[in-house]
Amino acid sequence: MWPLIFRILYPSSVVYPCDSRLYLTFDDGPSPELTPKVLDVLKGAGVKATFFFQGEQMERYPELVKLVADEGHVIAFHGYRHLSGLFTSRSIYIENFIHKTGEGLGLVRPPYGRIRPDQYRELSRCGKKVVFWTYLIRDFKMQLDLEREKRRISELVNRDRGQVFVFHDGNSGIHTLNLLNYLLTVSGRRNRAFGVLTGESE
Ligand SMILES: [Zn+2]
Repeated sequence: MWPLIFRILYPSSVVYPCDSRLYLTFDDGPSPELTPKVLDVLKGAGVKATFFFQGEQMERYPELVKLVADEGHVIAFHGYRHLSGLFTSRSIYIENFIHKTGEGLGLVRPPYGRIRPDQYRELSRCGKKVVFWTYLIRDFKMQLDLEREKRRISELVNRDRGQVFVFHDGNSGIHTLNLLNYLLTVSGRRNRAFGVLTGESE
């Protein structure tokens, strides 16, 4: 991520948070395999998060959407289908975000972070706030050097500034629980405070 370039191209999006808290976000869910386990871990730590759900998955698992909301987390939108903005026409890209499954969800995250400035402007005009991140956790990588990823997470938690982390609670989340537990442990040791992205104050 190059925060300065993102700020120029996408001026009112969230990249870095405005305060020094840590923000947890989850993409690509809900999934019956992972989402309930993620909820248990978050509940144990007393941390709330923002879930960028995919519309297709929400249609399949409405009970999981309700469970996440009932536990006090924020539901946001990752598009109906998992489209990259780069090779998708503006109208198809926008329709994918202004889909009935995402109605009323003001925060959106572009899959892969790939969104063109024209698509960004149109989404903003439609009242959607685009959220990027400061660190994408490699929890989806089959051949992941877990120790190296943990060192990176620890470095970021030890820095004295806010972070927006992305985990994956969809089918691709292979190391999600391991790395989430690790992040919560090192954050606890450093006494870091957590915030939750809601779309109101960022
Ligand atoms: Zn995604």
